[in-house]
Amino acid sequence: MSKTHKYAFFEGNFVPLENAKISIMNHSFMYGTAVFEGIRGYWNEAHGEMYLFRLKEHFLRMKDSMKIMHLDDLKYSVDELCKISVELVKKNEPKTDTYVRPAAYKTGQRVGPSLEDNPSDMCIFTVPFGDYFHGAPGLKVQVSAWRRVEDNAIPARGKIVGAYANTALAKTDAILAGFDECVVLSENGHVSEGSAMNIFMVKNGKLITTPITENILEGITRSSIMEFAQAEFGYETISRTIDRSELYTADELFFCGTGAQIAPIIEIDKREVSGGQCGEMTGKIREFYTQMCRGEHKKYMHWLTPVYGTGEKSGAKEKATAKS
Ligand code: PMP
Repeated sequence: MSKTHKYAFFEGNFVPLENAKISIMNHSFMYGTAVFEGIRGYWNEAHGEMYLFRLKEHFLRMKDSMKIMHLDDLKYSVDELCKISVELVKKNEPKTDTYVRPAAYKTGQRVGPSLEDNPSDMCIFTVPFGDYFHGAPGLKVQVSAWRRVEDNAIPARGKIVGAYANTALAKTDAILAGFDECVVLSENGHVSEGSAMNIFMVKNGKLITTPITENILEGITRSSIMEFAQAEFGYETISRTIDRSELYTADELFFCGTGAQIAPIIEIDKREVSGGQCGEMTGKIREFYTQMCRGEHKKYMHWLTPVYGTGEKSGAKEKATAKS
């Protein structure tokens, strides 16, 4: 229980976090019939500001997830969801990096997994959130024996709570085997993604990532990288099927995601990647992303939602201009 973030949004109201409770008979608890988002808030001390990264895009994706899971009887608009999130963060007053966790869920209290005639609600909580991965220079990774949930089993493009049992099995096996993280393959044997993050490979100066038809969550970090890596560094991204063995011969590999941010991979299935160091292109992308998320690249301020409304202090503006 967060001691610093005191409020949650629950059943249409801002309530003390300890009062935001659901029944053990709640449908989403019994059957995993909820969808969610994970949004990062980046604290910039010099700006005195908290920036929520691509808030609107997260709620647009949540709306898609809701449609897949018949949760769209819930009538909050994307703009309303953004507004509620900002208000909640403001109420909790964090001055450190923060995770915003909205969910839409089935509230029916009956036995049986069906989604129809089953009411929906939504909630949001926030918690302090530092780095997901610790330790330089990067991650030691295994290809998981578990396969990614298929589109015709549990659609991965929906951020569906029940599907994270698949993620949990893959991640846990990797940790118990002494690795930091895993790569999960689709049933067809092609690379899908990490446990809760997308993957990029660098080969001959080109960025290559797995296609959206390979049972990935269509990551917001992934699409952000595709855009700014081209605009800022001239790195083109090719989205195509990746074979497992291509990972072994890649020049560089990295994971990306809201939690993972940009995480270099330095070893895959006991084969060294980029000399056991963060690769050059990965390093540039990571540095830019880190600055951008904290509001230090003026050109990308439209991707950030300032919570406290102080983000355009004059000092900050000059710094931002200098770096863009
Ligand atoms: N795949 C899965 C399964 C995830 O849970 C996440 C994290 N949301 C990602 C990929 C990365 O997506 P994003 O960049 O939007 O956080």
